[in-house]
Amino acid sequence: MPADVLTLDTHYAHRDDLAAAYLLTGGDEVAFVETNTALAVPRLLEALRRAGKRPEDVRYIAITHIHLDHAGGAGPLMQACPNATLLAHPLAATHAIDPSRIEAGARQVYGEAFDALYGEIVPVPEGRVHALGDGETVMLGDRPLVAWHTAGHAKHHLVLHDPDADTVYTGDSFGLLYPSLQAHGPFVVPSTTPTDFDPEAAHASVDRIAGLGTRWLHPTHFGRHAMVPALADQLHRLIAAHAAVVDQADAAGLDGDALDGACVDAVTRLFDEALSRHGFAGDAEAASQLRFDAELNAQGLAFAVRKRRFKRAKASGHPG
Ligand SMILES: [Zn+2]
Repeated sequence: MPADVLTLDTHYAHRDDLAAAYLLTGGDEVAFVETNTALAVPRLLEALRRAGKRPEDVRYIAITHIHLDHAGGAGPLMQACPNATLLAHPLAATHAIDPSRIEAGARQVYGEAFDALYGEIVPVPEGRVHALGDGETVMLGDRPLVAWHTAGHAKHHLVLHDPDADTVYTGDSFGLLYPSLQAHGPFVVPSTTPTDFDPEAAHASVDRIAGLGTRWLHPTHFGRHAMVPALADQLHRLIAAHAAVVDQADAAGLDGDALDGACVDAVTRLFDEALSRHGFAGDAEAASQLRFDAELNAQGLAFAVRKRRFKRAKASGHPG
């Protein structure tokens, strides 16, 4: 019998089916994959209790990357689970130990909404963090979990392959798959949030994840889906289109509000076109599901344009 995966709805931003955490059991041991924010931690502990497990049984708390809808609750969840080790990409591990830069960055993006969205950010003691190498296997009881580094969405991103459940926990490296948008067949859009969007790495990570050959995938956004080639095709197409927005905005010399506005318009158009291709033409509810992601993706693209210019200026001896 395949190993089971419990999908926990974290009710991120008070919405259903937006951000998941996953609960896995191997022998007597339990692991969380993703924590969502500090505000979700009581909910995760309640799910643990309902599964008949104690906080002491939690062996691992794994985060795919440090963005706060994935790892914001790592500190308090680790405090609640005294025997747990935090598993993370080496670059994410340093941020978990000292989250000050992540918090400052997120406060810049989210402004006054930060506290209501994320609650408190708590550091994880260094001695309780295990940085996972690329291809490294950890055992949850008798259940292997294999880490693969997958840059593109974030430099510090990894996915976990769970052969016993024939699935992979993809974080944000294999896009956003909202249940409400699967009505006309598989539908995915990439996430290009600030500050690391790297199209070439993103394409490679999609291929790497698809290449694991699992039957299922569990993206953080949201739940279990069948792994089908159509998803990788959609991701490649939209990642390329997002990359083209960066190139065009850069070439057009856009800056300031004009740059930000052009990126929002471009991503909104890309999402609208994708929705139309998949049977959601003129569906306002479907479009609204992606509105927040369109804004975040646009911010990531505008950031990529500015970063590219900064690097160019630096290379030519005139740092902006
Ligand atoms: Zn996310």
